[in-house]
Formats: sequence, structure tokens, C-alpha cells
Amino acid sequence: MPDYTTIVGLEVHVQLATKSKLFCRCSTQFGAEPNTQTCPVCIGMPGSLPVMNREALDLALKTAVALNCTIPPLTKWDRKQYYYPDLPKGYQISQYDMPMSEHGHLEISDSKDRFESKKIRILRAHLEEDAGKSIHDEVAGRADSVIDLNRTGTPLLEIVSEPDMRSGLEARAYLDELKLLLTYIGVSDCNMQEGSLRVDANVNLHLDSGGEMIATPIVEIKNMNSFRAVERAIEYEAGRQYDVWQETGAKLGDSPKQTRGWDDAAGVTRGQRSKEESSDYRYFPDPDLVPVVFTKEEVAAATASLGEKPADLRGKLQSEHGLSAYDAEVLVNQGRDLLAYYLAAVDVAGDGKAVCNWVSQDVLRVLKEREEPIESFPIAASSLGKFVSKLKSGDLPSSRGRDVFDVMLDKKLSVDEAMHQLGIEEVDDSELETLCQQLLDANPKIVDDVRGGKQQAVGALIGQAKKRNPNADPGRVRQLCLDLIAKM
Ligand SMILES: [Zn+2]
Repeated sequence: MPDYTTIVGLEVHVQLATKSKLFCRCSTQFGAEPNTQTCPVCIGMPGSLPVMNREALDLALKTAVALNCTIPPLTKWDRKQYYYPDLPKGYQISQYDMPMSEHGHLEISDSKDRFESKKIRILRAHLEEDAGKSIHDEVAGRADSVIDLNRTGTPLLEIVSEPDMRSGLEARAYLDELKLLLTYIGVSDCNMQEGSLRVDANVNLHLDSGGEMIATPIVEIKNMNSFRAVERAIEYEAGRQYDVWQETGAKLGDSPKQTRGWDDAAGVTRGQRSKEESSDYRYFPDPDLVPVVFTKEEVAAATASLGEKPADLRGKLQSEHGLSAYDAEVLVNQGRDLLAYYLAAVDVAGDGKAVCNWVSQDVLRVLKEREEPIESFPIAASSLGKFVSKLKSGDLPSSRGRDVFDVMLDKKLSVDEAMHQLGIEEVDDSELETLCQQLLDANPKIVDDVRGGKQQAVGALIGQAKKRNPNADPGRVRQLCLDLIAKM
């Protein structure tokens, strides 16, 4: 095993869930006909003036406080100059030296203990406008490129982490937690397929060269289309940098920062154009936009509006509902809709652990098979709660639980209707007690064995009881037999 430490920092661009763009009223709806959601402002016609979208600023502020960032009292807009066909103005409105938030953190943990819980520091989170989309059609030697400017001007929050991650796995955990947090607080749908969340990774190695600590040149990896791809790209890139270092001995500072693209099918990174230095962008304050002031009251209101964060909810499920760290993670990480379903079922059943078992095993299995969200699950939360409470009270024998669940699911029936359809009547205790007494009378050897300390001998009677009454609950039969023997 080569002796090196992988150093990873992530830049995440998140599209904020506003109805209109950052500086004009064009719609941000995904999937419209190309170039139908544009206006003179977002395509940069001379003489048009940007007007800031307050909703975008509010969502950015909410995200920043959720990431424990400091909010400076004053922030401003800067022009980042570069020419590219998908940026018709010739500059992007961004934030340079006075970002709207900085110095936060996000905690990551792993219930499987593959890494230790740690705080990943956030350097800054700032707002900027998105560019359009260039589509290059190079099939069959053609070289026609087309531009769709619908995305131009969509509000983006760029969240820059410190280089605090040490593996692809940690980077993936950070992204999972970040996405979960942003969807819980409702600021973005974080849909990677639609480009609502995009990730670039900065990777290099720290290694020990004969007692001297050496850093390899930093490489920025782009074109990663899933969190899994981010994890794989980082692991690949670490190995590649180690090989290059062994071959050339190149250190940080020997060459400009390199950009490499991830080829998911081939499982490799490939070199791209070298990165411009930030001074090349000739940033300067945008003269068309006034600086923004955040009052203490606004920051406090944003903090108050957050509600419980995923990390808080995991802790609460453990302390209030007796779940394990693993169970709490499974439920919370499915998103807020599934968690709401779980909590509503617990309200009815009054048993967090029992409901968790049914939700994390059966409900999630069915949703996965059907590729459906919890909103379309046929069994309502209250109905599942009633089902679990009937199992708990013994009104529904545990041996028939799965049958009843399946009927509730397939025929969209309540627990009572499903039990009726399956011919499961609630067996009253006196009837069951008579049955048990008859069985004990017919099996004196078992009674003697139990009295002699072999309690498990009673198990032989459960099968016989089920034969005479299929609705008899095995646990109840066992308990009744033991009680009756004790009284003999
Ligand atoms: Zn527009």
C-alpha cells in the first residue's frame, strides 16, 4: 500500500429553487423548448439592466446559515470576465472578494464506521448566475454546435469546501449529507440529472519523501455525473498522481493547476485545458447592482426558518424512538417525505422500533421494486400504524403479519378489511386458554419437561395449536401454556 494521504476539496454548484432567474423574470423551469426562456437582460443586450431576485437571496441565506456560515453585514456583486458562446454578456455576475457567506461547516459520519465523524469546513458560499448550455454535435464528422440560453441567469450557489476530505468515500458522504440538508430545507431539488447540482473536485496527495512532507500538484476534476462517479474519480486520481510522482517527482508549484475530465465508462481522468489564474478574469464590482445588506434580524429569521436538520433528526430518532444509529440514518437519509410517513405511523402505533422495522424493510423494498416515491405508496401512514399496533396487541398474530401487509398493499385495504378477507378473526384469550388447557392435558410429558426447567419444550404445542386454530398467535400460545403450567 503506497504511503500517501489523499487531500480533497469540493466545489459544489447548486441551482436554487426559484421560479425566476437571478436578475430577470424569465422562468427557470427545466425542459422547455431551447431559447424560449430568455429576455434582453439574461442574454445581455446593451442597455438592459439587472434587477436582483430577492427569493434567490433568501434561499442562499437559508442555505448559508444551515451550513453554519458567518454572514457578513455587506455583500456585493462582481463581474467575472470571460468569453464563451454560452455566456452572451461576455461576463458572469458572481461574487469575488465579499461573498455573502463564509467559514461554515458540515459534519459527516458513517454508521458503518468506515471513517470517523468529522466536520468538513466550508470556506465560502456565494451566489452567481449560471451560464447557458452548449451542445456540440460531433457525430459523423459534423462540427455543428448549438446554444440553449434557457439556463443563462439561473441562480447558482457555489459552495466551496476546505480540503478536509481524505478519500472518495468521505467526499461522497459530504455530498450525500449536503444534498440531504438542501432538500430538507427546501432550497434546491439537487437533481444531478437535470444539472441542479454539479460537483468539481480538487485533489492532490501529501506524501512522505524520506522524512520530508511533499504535496503533489493539485488537479481539478470535472464532468462527474453522479456521487458514485465523484468517489471513483477521486480514488482513480489519487493512484494516478502517485504513479506520476514516482515517475517525475513533480511537486505542488512546479506546474499550473491542471484540469482533468472524468470518463465514467473508461474509469479514468483525462487532461483538459489548463486553468486560468483568477486574475485573468479581471473581476470588478458590477456597476449596475447595488451591494446587499443583511440585517441581524434577517439572519435570525433565516435561522429560525430552518426547522430540524437531518443530523438533529437522526439524534432525535435515537433518543425519542429508541432506534439504532443505523436505523435512524436509513430513515432520515430517505428524505423528509419518508420520514414524515414514518413519524405519522409511529403516532398511531406508539412503537418507533416496530414501525421502523416495517418501513425500513417492507415499505422501502416495495418502493424500490416499483421505483415509486412514498407519496404513491398504497398503505397510508395511519393505516400502517394501526397494522403495527394490532400486531403489538396480539389482535393480529405475528405469524400472519406479512400476509395481511401484502393484502393491504395489493388490494389497498385497511388492516381490518385485510384481516377479514384472510379470515383472520381476533381470537379471544378465553378461547385460546381452553385450547391450551386441552393440549396440556393431552401432553403430560411436555408439562413435566417444562416443570423440570425445559421451557423450550412448550414449543411442540405451538404447532398443534396452529393446526387446531390457524389464527392462534404463537407468542400468545406459548405464554398461556407457561402460565397454565405454573398454576397446575
Ligand atoms: Zn431573462
